[in-house]
Amino acid sequence: MSSSNLNEKINPFEVALKQLEEASKILNLDKGMLQILANPKRILTVSIPTKMDDGSIRVFTGFRSQHNDARGPCKGGIRYHPDVSVEEVKALSMWMTWKCAIANIPYGGGKGGIVCNPKQMSENELERMTRRFAYLIADIIGPYKDIPAPDVYTGGKEMAWIMDTYSILKGNYVQPEVITGKPIAIGGSLGRNEATGRGLAYTVREAAKKIDIDMKQATIVVQGFGNAGQFASKLVGEQGSKMIAASDSQGAIINKDGIDADALIKFKKETGTVAGFENAKSISNEELLETECTILIPAALENQITKNNADKIKTKIIAEAANGPTTPEADEILFKNDILVIPDVLANGGGVTVSYYEWLQNLRREYWKEEEVNNRLDINITKSFFDVYDTHKKYNVDMRKAATLLAINRVVEAVNIRGLWP
Ligand code: NAD
Repeated sequence: MSSSNLNEKINPFEVALKQLEEASKILNLDKGMLQILANPKRILTVSIPTKMDDGSIRVFTGFRSQHNDARGPCKGGIRYHPDVSVEEVKALSMWMTWKCAIANIPYGGGKGGIVCNPKQMSENELERMTRRFAYLIADIIGPYKDIPAPDVYTGGKEMAWIMDTYSILKGNYVQPEVITGKPIAIGGSLGRNEATGRGLAYTVREAAKKIDIDMKQATIVVQGFGNAGQFASKLVGEQGSKMIAASDSQGAIINKDGIDADALIKFKKETGTVAGFENAKSISNEELLETECTILIPAALENQITKNNADKIKTKIIAEAANGPTTPEADEILFKNDILVIPDVLANGGGVTVSYYEWLQNLRREYWKEEEVNNRLDINITKSFFDVYDTHKKYNVDMRKAATLLAINRVVEAVNIRGLWP
């Protein structure tokens, strides 16, 4: 069965709820509080009529889910993908609440998406669809309400269109703090592009120390050689390890002698895929995930490691750049097999942390050197890693459960201190 078939069958919101319920049992959480956390505060569904280049009109469906804002404004990406669904967006917004709480930054969780295939759309069509979407969600987002960011198949270009549309609609002055992941020229932060991969590399560094792995002997396999996967493999590679396999939606490649990350990034930029890279053999996505290595980095989509393949995974550390790549059943198998999983909410928290730094810089209209951004990120995510690792040891649970326990405790504390009104 291909991973995309598995992807269709597993409802990511059910996965998120199952994780929440398991954690709530350990924490002995009040039933009413569990209900608060199980349901997003608000979900907006919009129809986005878009003029296509041939003059026809297509109506796309878009969503924005705001899961919880007890600790601060909602924060989370907007993805463009044919598989986007309300269930997926709800799950991702819940994971953002946990992620922001684990990173201990003053945000809640949000997520959005449009059901579309951006690869089959022109730049003008994408711009018209993005601006119309920005207009339709303009009343529920804002610098102190909900601050979107890029996600799968969106980037600086889309963020710039959303910032421009929002700024014109809301008083016609520039409001860069409404969105993060912007190009540097309009208020983006230095270091933001690399932040997810960089943060992941810092957590891998600490995990390797905890389980006595010599990074100079370590090998890496990356599923999904996109933004997060490319920087993750490059920066984990800078710690001395070597990448031996990588994949994207068009194919997977392997070379046990090592694949140069910079050369592969250049090749992918030129050809649009890793498939066909010189000096490497082509393999299937299933074989890629089951390749023996020290560090496996899933950096593509959800539900890639399931009960069907978890037992076949031969690695020491799984560092999740992607959101939700491992199902709960697979988590149990990995824990039993002594594989240390650095869960998505911790491992890819560097992206949202530097988004927070971008927002701070925008609000103050002052800009930091890249070194300052990276140093702050290192201190912040290393502290989060220790917090999660200590919780994992204290409760004798896997790292994902530990991260969720830590996050829920922080969110519950904020909900309780604020109280319910009216
Ligand atoms: P991206 O679009 O840049 O990269 C995704 C990559 O995955 C692409 O290369 C694509 O070809 C590949 N892919 C898609 N389907 C695949 C499949 N079935 N098998 C193998 N490869 C496949 O997106 P991104 O920004 O790198 O995001 C990737 C993941 O990381 C997502 O889950 C996203 O939510 C998460 N993430 C990203 C950031 C960030 O800052 N970019 C932050 C946090 C989390």
